[in-house]
Amino acid sequence: MTAVTFEQVSKDWGSTTALFPSDLSLEAGQFSVLLGPSGCGKTTTLRLIAGLEAASTGRISIFGKDVTAVPPSHRGVSMVFQNYALFPHLSVAENIVFGLKVRGVARSIIEDRLKKALDLLSLAPYQARKPGQLSGGQQQRVALARALVGDSQLCLMDEPLSNLDAQLRQEMRHELRALQQELGLSVVYVTHDQTEAMSMADRVVLLKSGRIEQVATPHHIYQAPCSLFVAQFIGSSRMSILTLDHGRIAGTDIVLDVPHGAVSVGIRPEDIRLGGPNKLFVSHTEFTGADLMLHVKAGAQLIAIRAQGNRLVDAHSQIDFGWDVSSLHWFDDKGLRV
Ligand code: ATP
Repeated sequence: MTAVTFEQVSKDWGSTTALFPSDLSLEAGQFSVLLGPSGCGKTTTLRLIAGLEAASTGRISIFGKDVTAVPPSHRGVSMVFQNYALFPHLSVAENIVFGLKVRGVARSIIEDRLKKALDLLSLAPYQARKPGQLSGGQQQRVALARALVGDSQLCLMDEPLSNLDAQLRQEMRHELRALQQELGLSVVYVTHDQTEAMSMADRVVLLKSGRIEQVATPHHIYQAPCSLFVAQFIGSSRMSILTLDHGRIAGTDIVLDVPHGAVSVGIRPEDIRLGGPNKLFVSHTEFTGADLMLHVKAGAQLIAIRAQGNRLVDAHSQIDFGWDVSSLHWFDDKGLRV
């Protein structure tokens, strides 16, 4: 079953194209993440699914039903935003069931769903409080509870954790993912944070300038990025991209078995081991605690190497290193994977 289908869906605002004609298919029961840099069209894509924006072209289906012309309230989706958008004068419980009351849902059903949502999100002790008396994480849980009581099978979330501090964010990621799996929800989640996407998603949809660049599982997008853009966007430390020159890394005597059509090679810092056949000088180092990043000079280019934080390596010293050929990524002159 497919939760969301786009067939040649696009969105223009005058001369600005937020989304070029795109096909997309997101599986039901999965956590799908729309990922990409600022302005790439993530929020627009989410709002198109919700019906908060009308598509300029194409057809949108939700659970197999064409909803292109269906208003947001009839699409059966719930939404959670970055600013929780809670009513300050209503209690936690009243905020959670507000939408159900407006829709005239029977009282017994409202009470039943409220109890479930409060239990699920550990909010029962706070149900009588006003949002102003809650922490950011608790407020976000109220917003989630409100999205969940609606009983819609598709939940859309736009950077819902970005107002939280780093530690709480991490906890909420875990909670949110567990909740999605427990309820079997289909979630479409927007973030510009690749760590968030990689740690939560069943499927990552990476956007670039209004175009879908790659749709894949976190493992696949990390191991086989389809382009230079994806290769450098995914991964907690950036992949080094090195220009090739007649079968060598340009400016060095490191010889590689270059596949036909490749003009550059990508190497992740974590795929390089110290000790090996290559010798280069360290330009500078970066200590982050667990890791020591070594930036070595390869002619005019730099190769980043991730070493253990307890190693001592001086800038300007020479080091030996190597890699498994299978961990190299090759790209052609259009920036596409070879
Ligand atoms: P961010 O991470 O910064 O929120 P995003 O990936 O969600 O970015 P969108 O908000 O979808 O990006 O915007 C995509 C493009 O569409 C941008 O160039 C933006 O300026 C443009 N855009 C968005 N909304 C409108 C609008 N209402 N009118 C005109 N242009 C818009």
